[in-house]
Amino acid sequence: MSRPLDFFPYKNGSLSVGGVSLDKVADQVGTPCYVYSAEAFLKPLKEFQKGLRGLDHTVCFAVKSNSSLAVIRLLSQAGAGVDLVSGGELYRAELAGLSPDQIVFSGVGKTPGEMATALQYKDKGIFSFNVESVAELAALSSVAESLDTRARVALRFNPDVDPKTHPYISTGLKKNKFGMSREEVLQIGAAIESFPNIDFQGISIHIGSQLLSLSPLNDAFARVRALVGELNQLLPQPISYVDLGGGLGVAYKNEKPPRIADYCKLVHKHFGRKSSVGGKLKILIEPGRALTANSGVLLTEVLYRKIRKEKDFLIVDAAMNDLLRPSLYEAYHDIVPVRRDGGKPSLKRTDIVGPVCETGDCFATDRKLSKEINQGDLVAILSAGAYGFTMSGNYNSRPRPCEVLVNKGKIRVIRERETYEDLVRGESW
Ligand code: PLP
Repeated sequence: MSRPLDFFPYKNGSLSVGGVSLDKVADQVGTPCYVYSAEAFLKPLKEFQKGLRGLDHTVCFAVKSNSSLAVIRLLSQAGAGVDLVSGGELYRAELAGLSPDQIVFSGVGKTPGEMATALQYKDKGIFSFNVESVAELAALSSVAESLDTRARVALRFNPDVDPKTHPYISTGLKKNKFGMSREEVLQIGAAIESFPNIDFQGISIHIGSQLLSLSPLNDAFARVRALVGELNQLLPQPISYVDLGGGLGVAYKNEKPPRIADYCKLVHKHFGRKSSVGGKLKILIEPGRALTANSGVLLTEVLYRKIRKEKDFLIVDAAMNDLLRPSLYEAYHDIVPVRRDGGKPSLKRTDIVGPVCETGDCFATDRKLSKEINQGDLVAILSAGAYGFTMSGNYNSRPRPCEVLVNKGKIRVIRERETYEDLVRGESW
């Protein structure tokens, strides 16, 4: 499992990516800016693909974690499908060239318009709607009927296991809004003919994000397998696929998340040839963070050092609108200087904060950082490739940063920095 600096090593005293120093990136495109490593996106994807070998499978990249077109395209060209949660993400998948059989659509609130677009995607319709309620299933059936087509569906099962992660990213407990109980799924199975334009072929789950142990997944997978067995007694056709969701955690600090290879072994244990389902089910997985978190950093420049007795403040040019996770979840991101001269720095307790007028606009508190970091210096907020730019906004009327992909030593701007004109597009006064 990747660590924050794996793909961003120091070279000749400067933090770098793919052989390019981050000083050079900042010179070319300015700050704040997201910088991604193509190599870092591809490595975990290949590990999942290798680990699932022998099973009929698709790794469906959870686009919500990083929905840049260039990233979707990079991963899909390496064999990934996508897991989407909105019509906007479907539009992105189409631009990136995804084929219909590589797409699953999750989320509790798909609109009839989004359903219609996905049913007509490239004339064939997407591979799977992961449906979360009876009401949604009825709506999907009637949209499919109006288009004279059928929808292939996995019902999202809420297995009621505690993923032991942050409550905001826990999704597989009975109290969460996601999915359906075993009883609800079985009721639908028993009455499937009342949804005439639905092909009920799959079960999906997603129990939470940033999982640091395989044990909740082990419990959830066992429950999925048992449910598939029960459904196969009820349905005219047996279940043909399971979508096991995403959620595998990564190291932001010194966590020890499960290895991708071990996650895949668990999938084989439950669904492989030697399991009770005999390897007959197609397997989909939806990793997001595991592919993207440690593939990007947010590069930012120090605007001011505010010196105080107990601790200093480094005020940087990135803010909570650019990277929301620390303010939203008190998420930890390591923060390092781009230039390191090799000497032993004298350290001081420091808060790294942005310019937004909120006390919560804070990337880190009480970090021991070099006193030498000063106005004009660059720092990198690590592990910012997942839920970074995708959660960004324009609070305080701040244009969003640009995004850069470094691939084989080449710097490519994959999204331009927003302008003030972008900020007011569509407004009238
Ligand atoms: N699948 C679904 C349905 C999700 O809701 C999410 C994240 O919330 C993911 C996959 C991706 O999760 P992660 O980035 O933790 O792998």
